[in-house]
Amino acid sequence: YTQAKTLVFSSFGEPADVLHLHTSSISPQLRDGAALLRALAAPVNPADVNTIQGTYGSRPAFSSLLGTAEPAAVPGNEGCFEVVAVGGGVTGLGRGDWVIPAVGGFGTFRTHVVVEEAERVLFRVGGERGVEGLTAKQVATVSVNPCSGYRMLKDYVDLVDLSVKSFARGEGATGGAWFLQNGANSGVGRSVIQLGKLWGLRSINVVRERATPEETEALKSELKELGATVVVTESEFLDRSFTARLKEEWTRGDKEPLMLGLNCVGGKSASAMVKALSPKGCMVTYGGMSRQSFPFPTGPQIFKRLRFEGFWLSEWAKENPAEKRNTVNEILDLMRDGKFKEAPFKEVEWNWDTEEKVLKDAIQGTLEGFRGGKGLFVF
Ligand code: NDP
Repeated sequence: YTQAKTLVFSSFGEPADVLHLHTSSISPQLRDGAALLRALAAPVNPADVNTIQGTYGSRPAFSSLLGTAEPAAVPGNEGCFEVVAVGGGVTGLGRGDWVIPAVGGFGTFRTHVVVEEAERVLFRVGGERGVEGLTAKQVATVSVNPCSGYRMLKDYVDLVDLSVKSFARGEGATGGAWFLQNGANSGVGRSVIQLGKLWGLRSINVVRERATPEETEALKSELKELGATVVVTESEFLDRSFTARLKEEWTRGDKEPLMLGLNCVGGKSASAMVKALSPKGCMVTYGGMSRQSFPFPTGPQIFKRLRFEGFWLSEWAKENPAEKRNTVNEILDLMRDGKFKEAPFKEVEWNWDTEEKVLKDAIQGTLEGFRGGKGLFVF
């Protein structure tokens, strides 16, 4: 028998209040089609906390399958597991393979798990190249943030085509097409910066001021090293002068327009984005880190003919399962070629003796601002 530890919750609330560490035994007898997995790494994303709080767009079902006193759900959407054993009839997966969940709501905050219908529910990573040259951390964190960044940068405005046309017009374009994003130092933001650079695009990135000017400068430099073209602070962005500055310093009076804005934050920052976008530009909202909504102002909608879109990776992945796998594999290839760096993480070791409180604390802090990196359970 394998002894497993699993974080569970039986009602919605703050992680520190509702999470419990549950111990169970896993039988060595696997049913046909099943696989036994051992966890290697799992990040704690903002959506995981929202799911535990009951405020996320989809709610988990509480089940009795784990043998908990009350029906429970397992948090965690993303993670890298190693296949320990497979049941009869499983041909596409084998012992030692690294896999990630291919479906939402998998429940990754656990040391071991038996998965029924393993070949449907799991995605063996790396395609033909396998996982050679990759770390568990990279594999565990590729499918949410980098994937979201990739799709948002590609699927709403064809910026690469815009760049090509802009150069072809022979008006002296000074670089690739521009895009704008707030929350630029988030996991998603850092992915977008790197992909934008790789695709020849230029980015304007908004971050919040740090405690000291030196720290703010250090963050700006860090993002520029990743490939950001311009990094501004939120107060520079919210200042009335920003639109004029944008036209003067970067977009040559809108000749090289700003057609895509990625909104991670909401509130005032989103309103400033509406002002900054060029006519017929598109704003894609994917996060609400400030917990503030923003008005859909009538003027810009009509007179600038702006387009407002919402992005939700889970639904996109359900509708485009093959494309999701291709996106993951493409980013993993960039990672192993040293062209894509994962975001900073604060590693939290989860071994047999790790106390419940340590695990809960790692989750509880996730929505706080000004963090050096998000939590990553390492097993
Ligand atoms: P990270 O934990 O990596 O980063 C959090 C970001 O939020 C940081 O840039 C942080 O800036 C910023 N932030 C925190 N608090 C505030 C605040 N009060 N006001 C403004 N900014 C704040 O996050 P992820 O990259 O994992 O996720 C970012 C957002 O994207 C989340 O809302 C997440 O749910 C969403 N998301 C949505 C997806 C979708 O499918 N729609 C997919 C993936 C992510 P600072 O350092 O200044 O605190």
